[in-house]
Amino acid sequence: MKILVINCGSSSLKFQLIDSDSEAVICKGLCERIGIEGSQIVYTPTGKDKITKVEPMPDHNRAIELVIEALTNSENGVVSLDEIGAVGHRIVHGGEKFTKSVVIDDEVIKAIEDVSDLAPLHNPANLIGIRACQKVMPGVPMVAVFDTAFHQTMPQEAYLYGLPYSYYEKYGIRRYGFHGTSHSFVSKRAAEILGKNPADLKMIVCHLGNGASLSAVDGGKCVDTSMGLTPLEGLIMGTRTGDIDPSVVEFVMKKENSTVADVTNLLNKKSGVFGLSDNLSSDFRDLEAGYNEGHAGARRAVDAFVYRVVKYIGSYTAAMGGVDVICFTAGVGENSGFVRKLICDRLGFIGAKMDAEANKVRGEEKVISTADSKVTLLVVPTNEELAIARDTYALCK
Ligand code: AMP
Repeated sequence: MKILVINCGSSSLKFQLIDSDSEAVICKGLCERIGIEGSQIVYTPTGKDKITKVEPMPDHNRAIELVIEALTNSENGVVSLDEIGAVGHRIVHGGEKFTKSVVIDDEVIKAIEDVSDLAPLHNPANLIGIRACQKVMPGVPMVAVFDTAFHQTMPQEAYLYGLPYSYYEKYGIRRYGFHGTSHSFVSKRAAEILGKNPADLKMIVCHLGNGASLSAVDGGKCVDTSMGLTPLEGLIMGTRTGDIDPSVVEFVMKKENSTVADVTNLLNKKSGVFGLSDNLSSDFRDLEAGYNEGHAGARRAVDAFVYRVVKYIGSYTAAMGGVDVICFTAGVGENSGFVRKLICDRLGFIGAKMDAEANKVRGEEKVISTADSKVTLLVVPTNEELAIARDTYALCK
C-alpha cells in the first residue's frame, strides 16, 4: 500500500509518500507560505532532481491539490490517485483522549477540536490538513498519529504539576510531553539494534533538534519526559527557554512594559541557545564553530545546553533506579559528535564511557560506547514519517 504522510503547519505542509511493503520513500516535499504571497511547492521524487513550482496557495485545500498533482502528473508523477491507500496525519496534541493512533472519523475530529486549546497554534492547522485531504481524497482512510500519545503511560507523580489538583481536573493542566512518535520509534529501534527485549531495558532517549526533549523509557513504556503542557518546558532549545521560574514572566512584563503575548514570543522564539549566545545562532553548526573559536556567547550557550541535558539524564536515572541505554537522535543528536562528547564526558558517574572513534558517526545507527561502558550509548536516527506510515498501515491494511 502507498501511504501519504502529512505534517500540516499553519503556513506549511510537509509530505512523504511511503511504500508500506518496502518502507521506501517514493517522493517527499514541502508546500511553503500557504496563505501568504510567494507560495511554492518543492518536492523530490526519489532518485530524481528536486522540483520547485511557484504557485498561488490561498489555503490548505489548494496545497493538498498541488501535492496530489505533484504525485500523480503524467510527466514526473510517481503514482495514480487510486494507488494512495491511506493518509497518516501528524497531530501535535491528543490531550488525555488519545493514547495511541486512531482511524479518523467525525468523533475523532471533534475530540481533536476539543483539545485544541492545549495547542492553539498546531491542532487547528492539523485539522485543516485532515479536512483538505478528505475533500480531495474522499473515501480514502486516514489515521491520526499524536505527538503526545507515547507519553500517556507516565505515572501521575510525573505528569502532575504542583498546582491545586482542581486545575488538572477542570482544565487538564498537566505535563503531556511531545516528540512522542520519535521517542517511541527510537526506543523500539534501539532495543532491536541491541537484540534485547524492550521490557528488559531502562532507556533515556535524547531527542536533540531545534526542539529538544528527553524521555525516560522503562520496560518499553514512557515514565517521564521533559516537555510539559506545551513544548516550552524542559531542555534549553534552539530558541525556547525550557524550564524557567514562572515568575520571570511577570518580572519581564514589568521591566519591559510588555504584554503576555510579547513574553510568550520571547520565551519561544528569542531565547534558548539563540538568546544565550547573544543572537549568534540557534543552529549547532554555527555554535560549534563559535565554541571552537572561543566566542563567549557560543560557549555560554552550549555549556548551558549540555548542563541541562546532563541534569535531566541524572534525574531520569534516579527516576528509573538506573539506566542501561542512552540514545541520541534528531538533528543535533544524530549529527553532532561535538555535543554528544560534551554530554557523555559528564556521565562518568553512571559508568558511561564514550568510544571517541565510534562517536565520529553522523546520521547512522551506531553504538558509540566502549565495550566496558556500564551504559550503552547509541546513535539512532529518528524517522517520524516512517513511524506514522507504519501506524497508518497497521490500522488500514
Ligand atoms: P531537527 O529539529 O531535528 O531538524 O534539528 C535541526 C538542528 O540540527 C539544526 O538547527 C542544527 O542545530 C542541528 N544540526 C543539523 N546538522 C548538524 C550538524 N552536522 N552538526 C551539528 N548540528 C546539526
